[in-house]
Amino acid sequence: MPRVLTAALAVVLCLSAPANAAARQSFTVGPVTAPPGTIASGTLQVPARAGDQGTTVPISVIHGARPGPVLALTAGVHGQEYTPVLALQRLLKTIDPRTLTGTLILVHVTNMPSYLARTIYYSPADAKNLNRVFPGKADGTLSERIAEVITREVIDRATHVVDVHCGDGNESLRPYSYWITTGPPGVADAGKQMALAFGMDHIVVDRDRPLDPTASIYLSNTAITRGKPALTIESGGMARTDEASIARIEAGVAGLMRHLGMRPDGPEPVKNPIWIERSEVLRSHTTGVFTAAVEAGHTVAKGAIIGRVTDFHGRVIEEVLSPFAGEILYVIGTPAISKGEPVAFVGSTVAGG
Ligand SMILES: [Zn+2]
Repeated sequence: MPRVLTAALAVVLCLSAPANAAARQSFTVGPVTAPPGTIASGTLQVPARAGDQGTTVPISVIHGARPGPVLALTAGVHGQEYTPVLALQRLLKTIDPRTLTGTLILVHVTNMPSYLARTIYYSPADAKNLNRVFPGKADGTLSERIAEVITREVIDRATHVVDVHCGDGNESLRPYSYWITTGPPGVADAGKQMALAFGMDHIVVDRDRPLDPTASIYLSNTAITRGKPALTIESGGMARTDEASIARIEAGVAGLMRHLGMRPDGPEPVKNPIWIERSEVLRSHTTGVFTAAVEAGHTVAKGAIIGRVTDFHGRVIEEVLSPFAGEILYVIGTPAISKGEPVAFVGSTVAGG
């Protein structure tokens, strides 16, 4: 009966082999493939086009041994935002893929041209703000092509997205997150739970993001318009690399991973956060030398002076006033200011207040 035994053994092998394969596949992002329980790092390419040299996007994939959510974290969308970059490097060293449920995609420096040139807001390649050109264009300018690669390779592969920012090199900022209320049913509420899990005690309620996936503008909103819960968080600023701002991002990711069931332990969600129901970016009407009269985290009355702009000979040409009572979420901390640029972000717990 050896032939029968062989046949029976073959059946067992056939049953077990696909079962093992189906249990957990490798995870691939662009040229980077991580088998289950491992970490793989590499580089996404944004190819050259006429007029520029293209660029690269360094990424890591932490692929847990067990299946679960795919959480993408993006750092360095703006050129002088360093605390997110450093926080992701620490996460890469401290998360053990063998005990992880699900997968992390880390985008270490999303906007390499701006990072290397140390520019705030705008890319040196095309003068565009990367976080205003999503979902990007494959045949567009360099910022638009970076956005297209991030949309296709990272956001489309993820189930949840956190775009990690801090104040740019000129922005003095108190920590907060944005909860985006627009989007498909269920996505907004899932995003709210992500914001609570991330642990920031100030949450800006953002009701004005576009609904159109072809004109999502912002990175996190690109995920939301594709049905994936997402968050933008802010921790740090002024081109600093302070420990508290880095640790806050690490703790936030740990809390979020616990919430998503990726790891069993982590910080509790924030209780009784301050919901910023009304917020406004105040802009300069003049070009010159800005001096703040407040600091991030200060409480201001309606009509309070936020700062002054002088001309280049020292004469005051503008006083920027708060349009409502609230808290300073960020204020510009360096003198250079051009007409139309932000000078401060003020928020209030009172809608319409
Ligand atoms: Zn930013």
